[in-house]
Amino acid sequence: MVVFSRVICLLFSLCFFQSVIAADAQLKTWEHEGWLYGEAESMGTRIAVTLWHKDKTVAMQGIEAVVAEMQRIDQHFSPWIESSELAQLNAHAAKQAVEISPEMSLLINKSQWVSRISEGAFDITFASVGWHYDYREKRQPSDAQRKALLPAINYSLLQLDETGKNGKNKKLRYGHPNIRVDLGGIAKGYAVDNAIKILQQLGVQNAMVSAGGDSRVLGDKRGRPWLVGIKNPRPPTDAATEPVIYLPLENTAVSTSGDYERYFFDEETGKRVHHIINPKTGASAQGVISVTVLADHGLDADPLSTAVFVLGVEKGLNLVNGLQGVDCVIIDADGKVHYSAGLTPPEQ
Ligand code: AMP
Ligand code: MG
Repeated sequence: MVVFSRVICLLFSLCFFQSVIAADAQLKTWEHEGWLYGEAESMGTRIAVTLWHKDKTVAMQGIEAVVAEMQRIDQHFSPWIESSELAQLNAHAAKQAVEISPEMSLLINKSQWVSRISEGAFDITFASVGWHYDYREKRQPSDAQRKALLPAINYSLLQLDETGKNGKNKKLRYGHPNIRVDLGGIAKGYAVDNAIKILQQLGVQNAMVSAGGDSRVLGDKRGRPWLVGIKNPRPPTDAATEPVIYLPLENTAVSTSGDYERYFFDEETGKRVHHIINPKTGASAQGVISVTVLADHGLDADPLSTAVFVLGVEKGLNLVNGLQGVDCVIIDADGKVHYSAGLTPPEQ
């Protein structure tokens, strides 16, 4: 499916910048050799769009529509926005069954599937403990807090009532008073899928959309593959951003989970405390430092990269090797790179 190549450097010169405000996302766009580029902030991360369309007006419409969709998904699924469907669920679903939208049902069903196949390594109720981490403020739950809340991490305590007419009016109830759900491990993959759908509807055939570590490429880069980089998880300096591996891809979703994305060092132990939580312990997952998953859809690649990160090298490779059309690259804590069976290792 994919052939690896190492690329020394990418020369990248920009023609001109244009600044537009899209909702509150501060969209910047520029053009280079017929390609239109866009960058914005949304979903707590950097959104990047590259696309080609012969009609510049359509190309610009595409970028604006993608950013608007990211904003919509953030308003819907952010646990921090009080009016979001997810925040409302977290506020009420432990007390009574709450009606959920078809979109919420889609994300929860997919999350539950990944939980089942990963034996709970991916679990959206991780947030019952995860909620008490603040990476910016270097705050983490105490051992006592973690222990007390651990029983609320259990995806099988999410009771999804699917008896509504025509699959509509589904309801969700939390089967434990301390459950909190967070969709941060799946919503960005879903968002890049929607973005690609929007671009296809506008007639775009060549595009790449990224939301932080979750990307999806449409078609190729007009005659050559897209090159998607896997970041060096331990760059020699803070300023070094050169990827360590480039994946030449077409029509693929690619998601990377890394322990360098949101973290701080525990002052007592010196250990890295990061944002991927092992649901069995309520603490940051150990053993690997970067996982990249390739799949047809972001809705699969995104949660699977988080699941494999928690599972570690052996169990993670087993999971991916058993899934049709899914591949992965794992960098372990010693910096060793492991590839799933479907990937040809790079030439030495
Ligand atoms: P990613 O960078 O895609 O691996 O997603 C990391 C995000 O997923 C975190 O910021 C959390 O919001 C969420 N998350 C962390 N640990 C888990 C887990 N074990 N299962 C599901 N979601 C998680
Ligand atoms: Mg992910």
